[in-house]
Amino acid sequence: MTDKLAFINEDVANLKEQGLFINIRTMESPVGAWMTVDGKRVLNFCTNNYLGLANHPKIKEAARRAIDQWGVGPGAVRTIAGTQTLHLELERRVAEFKGVEASLFVQGGFVANQIAIPALVGQEDVIFSDRLNHASIIDGCRLSRAKIVVYEHRDAEDAERVIKENIGQYRRGLLVTDGVFSMDGDVAPLDKLYEVAERYGVITMVDDAHGEGVLGRGGRGIVDHFGLHGKFDIEMGTFSKAFGVVGGSLSGKKLIIDYLRQRGRPFLFSSATTPADTAACLAAIDLLEESTELVDRLWENTRYFKAEMKKLGFDTGQTETPIVPVMLGEAPLARQFSARLFEEGVFAMALGFPTVPRGQARIRVMNTAAHSRDDLDKGLAAFEKVGKELGVIG
Ligand SMILES: *Cc1c(COP(=O)(O)O)cnc(C)c1O
Repeated sequence: MTDKLAFINEDVANLKEQGLFINIRTMESPVGAWMTVDGKRVLNFCTNNYLGLANHPKIKEAARRAIDQWGVGPGAVRTIAGTQTLHLELERRVAEFKGVEASLFVQGGFVANQIAIPALVGQEDVIFSDRLNHASIIDGCRLSRAKIVVYEHRDAEDAERVIKENIGQYRRGLLVTDGVFSMDGDVAPLDKLYEVAERYGVITMVDDAHGEGVLGRGGRGIVDHFGLHGKFDIEMGTFSKAFGVVGGSLSGKKLIIDYLRQRGRPFLFSSATTPADTAACLAAIDLLEESTELVDRLWENTRYFKAEMKKLGFDTGQTETPIVPVMLGEAPLARQFSARLFEEGVFAMALGFPTVPRGQARIRVMNTAAHSRDDLDKGLAAFEKVGKELGVIG
């Protein structure tokens, strides 16, 4: 008898051989600028906690109060008995915050893409997708069974070329793009993509996971950044990044959002978000609406860190956001760099193929409002030391 599970050992050996096996670190303290990771106190440049909200006292208090009032679980999917007044309040507040007609609160960002894309397009349709779109968009596209046509990264002209070439052969089309690309920190040309899609009657959708709380007025996101309110058909969002909690959202025209309540399968068949999470998301929106202080600090830190890294001689790629890729080339160098930084007390992730293209391995630094100037200086000193030691900078 052959071992039916032998393929697992073979694949794991294969991953290890290629240096792609993931060593999952354990966090032993709450999310913050400094964290205890695998027993070591380190400066954290790895989390998406852009505004430092993941451990904010007001948000924790809101979650505690919601547990006292509502308990811990919703007890049902949204469409049966799981829709609580908290969910509807959050949906109203998200729509208001983003300046759109309506919003749907869902369990996460990943699942938001699985909800929206297969509800809007099917087997007879075509999707136009940026080459570097996030895995959750790619999986949402596959799930829809629509034809997927990739256009070159951030290239509206290429998007127009593929739309022109294909649209006539399908019932309808959907253009979908990341707003901020999480590996490079670059931004989709939303205004140009909108013009092109509109010309051909193609539905438009943007994944704003790394734009919310970061771009736009007071962190209102990428659509606000480009002033495209009411124009992009669907904005997908997440509460797990700048908002510091967990959950996802789909926002835009009321017609579409109400339709997703009928047709979004993970919305229909997976339980509602908990009262604690929902109340925490509401408290995060309160904080963002009250003041732009955290968003301003995030950008101040970002500008300082990027300028100092450039002065040191590092290549920080095409970033336009708080995501700073430190380009190193080959994956083994990036891994070694990350390991040496960790020894120096700095936690920054190495990313290699297949997360990024071959030969473009990097360390990714996530700037946040939680870092002080002193933290950034400590981080920069470690980058300088390791960069010189490994011959990356002179
Ligand atoms: C993180 C991320 C998601 C997934 O969001 P979750 O709320 O963590 O599920 C989706 N899209 C993009 C672009 C992301 O970066």
